[in-house]
Amino acid sequence: MTEWTYTLKFRSSVSIFSGLAVAGLVDRMVMRNHKGLPFIPGSSVKGRWRFFAERLLQNGGLPDDLKIHKTGEPLCKNLKSRCTLCKLFGNPAFPSMLLVGKAELDETLKGHFENLLKQNPNPVNHPDTELRPGTAISRITGTTLKNHLFFNEAVPPVIFTGKLIINGTLNDNEEKFLRASARLVDRIGGRKSVGMGGLDGGIRIASKGGAE
Ligand SMILES: [Zn+2]
Repeated sequence: MTEWTYTLKFRSSVSIFSGLAVAGLVDRMVMRNHKGLPFIPGSSVKGRWRFFAERLLQNGGLPDDLKIHKTGEPLCKNLKSRCTLCKLFGNPAFPSMLLVGKAELDETLKGHFENLLKQNPNPVNHPDTELRPGTAISRITGTTLKNHLFFNEAVPPVIFTGKLIINGTLNDNEEKFLRASARLVDRIGGRKSVGMGGLDGGIRIASKGGAE
């Protein structure tokens, strides 16, 4: 088992919604831990990472031992011959070798966020986030619909860190592939159309004790 840490350095505000809302006030709120601090679930990070890993494998040109099941064919069911994607990221038949922990605010920022929340424990408009208004546009008239203004909560561009666990042993090519596909991740959460959740440098991996 190997443990790495990863860093997400956001260029733009980020929203991973919890499904919580305050009726009539804030339509979608970000996820928070037991201390009330925003976090990003590991599944959101891993989902985007898997997407880029799959694309990289499909593009080809990689060492022969890095392979992927054919597009449109069922996911690998044989433990010994499963492809790199199914091995590293898992599929319904096998657990994932790569475990992605939730990304929490970087240690250097937690105190600042906690102070903001203490100063103004407002359950609706959290002082550590911004509310981004939006409107719904009528598809028929192309104009703004009445009574369809909404507010989404977003965390300003800051740094989040989390843990990665490799359950097993990666060979050199697999490790290089994981790191390369991580760097390709362009954004997490939010909507591309409004430029949210943009990452600077992708998912940045540091081996324990040493930054890359
Ligand atoms: Zn596969």
